[in-house]
Amino acid sequence: MVLLNGESNGQTFGHNGVSAEDDPIGASHVGTSLNTPLRPDAFSLPDEEKMKRIEGHFRSIMDILGLDLRDDSLRGTPKRVAKMFVKEIFSGLNPKNKPPVSLFENKFGYRQMLVEKHIRVQSFCEHHFLPIYGKAHVAYIPNGQVIGLSKLNRIVDFYARRPQVQERLTMQIADELSRVLQTEDVAVYIEAFHMCVQARGVEHQESITVTSEFRGAFSSDSVKNEFLQAIKP
Ligand SMILES: [Zn+2]
Repeated sequence: MVLLNGESNGQTFGHNGVSAEDDPIGASHVGTSLNTPLRPDAFSLPDEEKMKRIEGHFRSIMDILGLDLRDDSLRGTPKRVAKMFVKEIFSGLNPKNKPPVSLFENKFGYRQMLVEKHIRVQSFCEHHFLPIYGKAHVAYIPNGQVIGLSKLNRIVDFYARRPQVQERLTMQIADELSRVLQTEDVAVYIEAFHMCVQARGVEHQESITVTSEFRGAFSSDSVKNEFLQAIKP
């Protein structure tokens, strides 16, 4: 397990006891680690080389599926997919893309809860590589310093742009908020659709997965309720 800048160590989520050796997770959507499981050499290849290799492999997949890659509409797909993986939807794997965060002195002495709600979440289930999409609501109580509001959105976006499980995404965002804001008083609430539940397997269109993390002052019922009231639709 590799520790990235600012990611904390260790906590594990239990898995559901499915014992197949090659697929201990299966379709149960339970993550095994708070840190995204990355190899230590994850970023030794430059992006250009990664895209070149992914393009080749993706071309093979399409070819094996029997698609005619000479077709005008399909010809560019392997290259497009490779670029999308490395530069867009999985760009949050690379710590160099982590949003820089600057804090401002809390000059007006604001000491109440700040809630940023309806932050777009666009991620991908790491078990099926299908979209997870929905909304995140985050909050914190300032500890001397405040953060630019759009940085909260950028933090959510960075951790979403990885192959994910929703539970881990929630915890990673809470960890990062806590680290940059230098306070335990943070809350994260995510409601999201999982395409792998909608489009395959059980094929339930309407299920929404809700995850939350309440730390510090947000552990108390009154503060938690104030937050939950604020994010009510
Ligand atoms: Zn899935």
